[in-house]
Amino acid sequence: MTRARAETFGAWVRVDDRTLLAVDRATARRFGVDGGGRWQHPAPSSIVDETTRPLEVHVAVTARCPVACSGCYLDAHPDGEHRAFEEIAATLDDIAARGVFTVAFGGGEPLSHPELPRIAAHARARGLLPVVTTSGVGLTAERARELSSFAQVNVSHDGLGAQYRDTRGFDGARVAERALATLVEAGVPVGVNVVLTRALLGGDGAGLLALVDRVIELGAREVQLLRYKPQGRAASLEYLARRLTPAQVAQLPALISTLVSRTSVRIDCALVPLLSFSSVGRTSSAMVGRASSAVVGRTSSAIVADLVALGVMGCEAGRALGAVDVHGRDAPCSFLPGMSPADVSAFAAPEPCASCPVRAVCRGGCRVVSRHLQGDPFVPDPECPRVQEARR
Ligand code: SF4
Ligand code: SF4
Repeated sequence: MTRARAETFGAWVRVDDRTLLAVDRATARRFGVDGGGRWQHPAPSSIVDETTRPLEVHVAVTARCPVACSGCYLDAHPDGEHRAFEEIAATLDDIAARGVFTVAFGGGEPLSHPELPRIAAHARARGLLPVVTTSGVGLTAERARELSSFAQVNVSHDGLGAQYRDTRGFDGARVAERALATLVEAGVPVGVNVVLTRALLGGDGAGLLALVDRVIELGAREVQLLRYKPQGRAASLEYLARRLTPAQVAQLPALISTLVSRTSVRIDCALVPLLSFSSVGRTSSAMVGRASSAVVGRTSSAIVADLVALGVMGCEAGRALGAVDVHGRDAPCSFLPGMSPADVSAFAAPEPCASCPVRAVCRGGCRVVSRHLQGDPFVPDPECPRVQEARR
């Protein structure tokens, strides 16, 4: 079902469960969109900074998780409370009325919520596209069949065998793989979320490549690569020992190019600063898949235009991305509970971000990492190679 939202540049249009397009005014009209007051002035030349309402909202449905990994981002535990269906339904009604396209359910472990299928059906009924992320714990064949309303179920898989346990403190590789197979068997579209850690990438990225080959074999249609974030219990673990080394960061573009040749790859918002510098600051032949091959040797505005056209988004916390925590409180993103979406969205990163060619897309990197390492979310991402070089 087509769903559209007018913007100053034209409109966002969702044409199917996998395709969200930014279109100009003429194309928007062909989809039946009337921009009204938003189109009374000439259209801006770029869509950057023109999307100030969320396209996607992450909604926590529970604080419960039977596993309670030592590396949980959200401090979930086995006795955590579920949010009541009626409250979640009210949240969905509200975000649908705000023109949001996608609702991503999380927790805790969302599968532990007994009314998850009903929640997904309610989202569909409001025109929202429901997706969910799970460890796979507790997934049976019967439960998998109940998840058919979801546009995609994302299974977290952080490494084959012991590598998973090293990241999460929970031996979840077999659970994740069983869940993938069960969901595919039930006809549910599945993706895999992979947190990039030092142990997973090792010296040559072989652990990541092997993991991706395994999940493709099991039927995953997409892999999302995520930066390891110092949030919740993961912050108190050995974050510095688990984050990627500078050598691994430098290797990422080539690694992603290899993955793109094997499957559909999504890049986490927080990874953008780690990839941007190798694309923009150097002339390297090892580039970052589609995004970087488009940016080599271009002017700043052309680079940003290309990244935008390719759908690359960095920190959109409080802007194109929103979150609602398990108590129903708004947040800029699910990793920043308690912070004001308006404060985070207003952040204008100073140098070296201010003159960075991809600033308009990256927006200064991840606030979660800045907060953890610098004690201040409103400073440039200290793990960005360009920021590190400027400090040197
Ligand atoms: S702070 Fe920004 S980059 Fe970091 S996880 Fe949230 S939205 Fe992504
Ligand atoms: S310098 Fe700032 S804006 Fe540029 S890539 Fe790094 S964090 Fe992002």
